[in-house]
Amino acid sequence: MDETLDWLRSRPYYEGQLVAHEVTPGRPAEFARIDLNPRLDDALASTGIDQLYRHQTTAIETIRDGDNVVLASPTASGKSLGYTVPAFERALDRTACTLYIGPQVALINDQEETLDTLASELGFGSGVQVAQYTGRLSQPEKRAVRDRQPTILLTTPDMLHFGILPHAHRLWDWFMTRLELVVIDEVHEYRGVFGSHVALVLRRLNRLCNRFDADPQVVCCSATIRNPIEHAAAITAAPAASFDLVDTDTSATGPTHWTFWNPPEYSGDRDWGDSGRRRSNHVETKRLFVDLVERGYQTVAFTQARQAAERYATESADELRDRGDHDLALAVTAYQAALSRERRATIETGLHDGSIRGVWSTNALELGVDIGGLDVVLLDGYPGTRMATHQQAGRAGRGTDPSLVVLLAGEDQLDQYFMADPDAFFKGPPERAIVNPENGHLLPGHVLSAARENWLRPADDRHFGPTFPGLVADLESADRLERRDTRDGIRWTYGGEGSPQQDLNLRSIGDRTITLYDTSADTVIGTLPFDDALRDAHRGAVYHHQGRTFVVTDLDLARDMAILEPRHADFYTRVLHDKEITVTRDRETTHLDTQEDCTVRFADVTMEKRITGFERHDTASGESLGREPLDLPTLTLDTTALYLVLPAAIEAALRDRAGEFLGMIHAAEHAMIAMFPLELLCDRRDIGGLSTPHHPHTGASTIFIYDGYPGGVGLTRAGFDRLQSLLVDTRSMVAACGCDDGCPACVQSPHCGNANEPLDKAGAVALFDHLLEPA
Ligand SMILES: [Zn+2]
Ligand SMILES: [Zn+2]
Repeated sequence: MDETLDWLRSRPYYEGQLVAHEVTPGRPAEFARIDLNPRLDDALASTGIDQLYRHQTTAIETIRDGDNVVLASPTASGKSLGYTVPAFERALDRTACTLYIGPQVALINDQEETLDTLASELGFGSGVQVAQYTGRLSQPEKRAVRDRQPTILLTTPDMLHFGILPHAHRLWDWFMTRLELVVIDEVHEYRGVFGSHVALVLRRLNRLCNRFDADPQVVCCSATIRNPIEHAAAITAAPAASFDLVDTDTSATGPTHWTFWNPPEYSGDRDWGDSGRRRSNHVETKRLFVDLVERGYQTVAFTQARQAAERYATESADELRDRGDHDLALAVTAYQAALSRERRATIETGLHDGSIRGVWSTNALELGVDIGGLDVVLLDGYPGTRMATHQQAGRAGRGTDPSLVVLLAGEDQLDQYFMADPDAFFKGPPERAIVNPENGHLLPGHVLSAARENWLRPADDRHFGPTFPGLVADLESADRLERRDTRDGIRWTYGGEGSPQQDLNLRSIGDRTITLYDTSADTVIGTLPFDDALRDAHRGAVYHHQGRTFVVTDLDLARDMAILEPRHADFYTRVLHDKEITVTRDRETTHLDTQEDCTVRFADVTMEKRITGFERHDTASGESLGREPLDLPTLTLDTTALYLVLPAAIEAALRDRAGEFLGMIHAAEHAMIAMFPLELLCDRRDIGGLSTPHHPHTGASTIFIYDGYPGGVGLTRAGFDRLQSLLVDTRSMVAACGCDDGCPACVQSPHCGNANEPLDKAGAVALFDHLLEPA
């Protein structure tokens, strides 16, 4: 591998990009003995499994003992056998049922195939039957699954919500009464809005299990996160103390060579000085990809968007063809979730047997789909979290052979933070996964769904939390629930028409959407949620779709339609907006450890945002090409926020400095938002901010950070507990940036509604110093 690194350094485009090299040592596998049902033992042997890893036997024994388990280990470490063996044993012994829940149908297909192969090795009449129950099935196919009564049922949270829980009594009683094991795969995927929904769906499942006298054990499989047990408990509502953690990977691995590749700063043809702008990471990734594939390394490049994966795969193949490598060009492709099931399966097989030599992928390949191990993983930009970085890097490594992972940095804050301080990545802990099952915007829909599934009673507050009694009273007075006083106590039944489940989509929030209409081809090219459409599809916006560029000629809100025309554009557009935050209720108060005078609060807030116009920017340089006003409706968001009230003395000291005070707090706000994902599993787009020199609620200069979803998904609540360390990390990020006066790697934000004005980088550092090192 050292030879490979020397070879990389000898590439004609090498200008010192390799800034870190760290080797994670390999290790031999550790096996353990365990007594298995002889039939199952034989079946495993005929699928090629003669021995089990120690982490697998530990999980199996823990489940046999009746405890709940969290299996938290890397991709492809064999987590699934940990629950497969107990699930099969119980099906063989007493026709007990297992419910497997996976976040994506692609993963479920993969699991179904593996489990089905094992089941068929057991032979006819074993009692073990595997079936998926997902949106992929037609109505007759679904009916056939229910008639067959499989012992292992694989489904998505969505199908559990729409298709299983609503019919539990009528169609699934055979399953519910025999349910002994619930497997939640990829539990780290359940976070934010989707995770909060799933947590509520699982509370509905728990409630129905109680009614059927079923008490299933829970197995959660997770990527490496900071809080695996806390998160499994939050998602499943099983007590944290009921879980055992199995997080030691005892499968065999080779050494992994981690390298950081920082694209060079612009110089020469453009005189941008120390602007902090760097050469595109996409260009650099493409160069490495083509060279590595040509050198014979089977390589995956992870990139962030589907369109990008498609485009770079095509361009990489073209480049190989130009070099005369026609066969290799044909062995390069893109992998992403929008491909057909058949196409994805073909690529997975091709990666396994080595006929595919290179693939550009979105995070779709992050899931546990089996593709064997590859030689090299390229990360085209920091994947956003350490967790995702390790998941993607986990695709490298075949047996105990050495493998290479290259992280190619973009120009964003976290990318450059880790380039400047690689130890912050290698030694830092993984992020915490956060959900909020108490979200007041999500609860009513789930409580109504629960009432439709089986009457509610006062004791259901143990499933739905402390706000349940008040919520039920509200729903009753709105005639959505009907109260009956029976001999067995109070019951509420669903009082409305139709199905409350159908009104509730787990993967989205808000239902108003805008249709995108391409006039040139007279076709609809897609839809956008209302709020996103105001930002991305206003009149004059440049809109990219499937590698094509459009300009929006009209946004017709009476018809909820945006009219687009294909057009060449060498500029991009960004909206400008005004924001206001009203504090509706302060919930918690604390002070910074380092600055007693600085009050920090967690609160319910209402954020109102009005898009006032947009700005065109030159694509190459980012320079502004002028502004235009827009007249659009005000958006209102009821959510949660943390805020920091600056002591008057600090404000006075900052105002004594040269520069604009607003620029200092504005820059500090941007930088804190950029660093939020350092400890919490989220994207900086999941939160928003506002900094103001005077807020009517606090009567002082205030920095707000709010959850970007109605009701809040728990991010700012978690951030409230960690504000001190967020300030420390943010200060070191901004102070370490080599730019003169602010750049995308420190205080600028691509999502700023004020076109990144005013920003005062040095003033922001001074502000952090006042908060962290009081004189
Ligand atoms: Zn900078
Ligand atoms: Zn801003």
